[in-house]
Amino acid sequence: MTEIFNSTTLNNVNAPSFGQIVSNIFETQKQLNIIEKLWASWYTYMQNDILATGLLFFLTHELTYFGRCLPWYLIDKIPYFRRWKIQPSYIPSDKEQWECMKSVLKSHFLVEALPIWAFHPLCKRLGISVSVPFPSLKTMCFEWCLFFILEDMWHYWAHRLFHYGPFYKYVHKQHHRYAAPFGLTAEYAHPIEVMSLGFGTVGFPIIYAYFTRDLHLFTITCWVCFRLLQAVDAHSGYDFPWSLHNFVPFWAGAEHHDLHHHYFIGNYASSFRWWDYTLDTEAGPQAKMDRERRAKLKADKTAKKRI
Ligand SMILES: [Zn+2]
Ligand SMILES: [Zn+2]
Repeated sequence: MTEIFNSTTLNNVNAPSFGQIVSNIFETQKQLNIIEKLWASWYTYMQNDILATGLLFFLTHELTYFGRCLPWYLIDKIPYFRRWKIQPSYIPSDKEQWECMKSVLKSHFLVEALPIWAFHPLCKRLGISVSVPFPSLKTMCFEWCLFFILEDMWHYWAHRLFHYGPFYKYVHKQHHRYAAPFGLTAEYAHPIEVMSLGFGTVGFPIIYAYFTRDLHLFTITCWVCFRLLQAVDAHSGYDFPWSLHNFVPFWAGAEHHDLHHHYFIGNYASSFRWWDYTLDTEAGPQAKMDRERRAKLKADKTAKKRI
C-alpha cells in the first residue's frame, strides 16, 4: 500500500506531514472517493502497514466504543428519558460507570491490544486487501449481513454454554454483575469471555477470507464498528419508540438483552431474535406465560387423542 503512493506521488517530499499527504492524494487520486483517499493517506503517512493497521483498529475500537457509550451516559443523567428506561428503578451511579470504564479499558489494553497488533501479518497471509479502491457497496453489504448472521449464531451457542455450571461460575458471572445493564457494560467481561465471544466477530471474517481470498480490511473495520454499536446499544437499558426492533421485528436490541440481564436466563443471541424464538429460550414473564400456554395446549391435544 505505502509503495504505490510513495513512488507516484511523494518522490520529492521529504518526511511530509499528514496534511501534505492528504492534499497530495486528494489532488492526484481524483478517481477515489473521500474515504478511500483518507484511507490511502493514512497508510502512506504511517509508512508501516503493521503499525497502520494496528493503530487503525485500536483507535477505531476505542473511539466507536466510548464514543457510543457517551450519549448513553448523558441520557442516564436526563430524567426526561426515564420513561423509556427498561428498568427505571435502577440508574447507574457515576462511581459504577467509572469502575466499569476502568475495567473495560484495562481489558482493551491487556486482552485486545496484542491480537490487534498481530492482525496485519495475518491479513497478509490471508490475502486481505488494504489497497484502494474499496470493493463495491453491494459486496460489502453482503459480507456485513453474512458476518452479522454468523456472529449471532456463534454468540447464541457460546453464550448458552457460558450459562452452564462452571463456565458461568468462573467466567460469565462477571458480565452478569449488572442486572440492569448500561452502555459501558457491553464489554465488561472476563478475558476468556472477551476472547471466545470475540471470535464470533473476528473469526468469521478470517475464515471467510481463508476460503474466498477476497476480503478487504475496510469491510472488516466497518463490520467491527457495526458490531460494537450493536453491543453497546443492546446494553443501553433504553427501549425507545424509534428503537430498531420496533421496525425490524427480528432485530434483538436493548429490550431483548435487558431481559437476559434481569432474569439471568434466556435471550442468549446478540443481534437477532430467531435463535431464541425457534429454540424456545426467550426470556421474561411474557415468554414464560407463552411457553406454559403452548405446553398446556400440547398436553390437552395428547389427552384428547387418548380418549
Ligand atoms: Zn449471560
Ligand atoms: Zn450483556
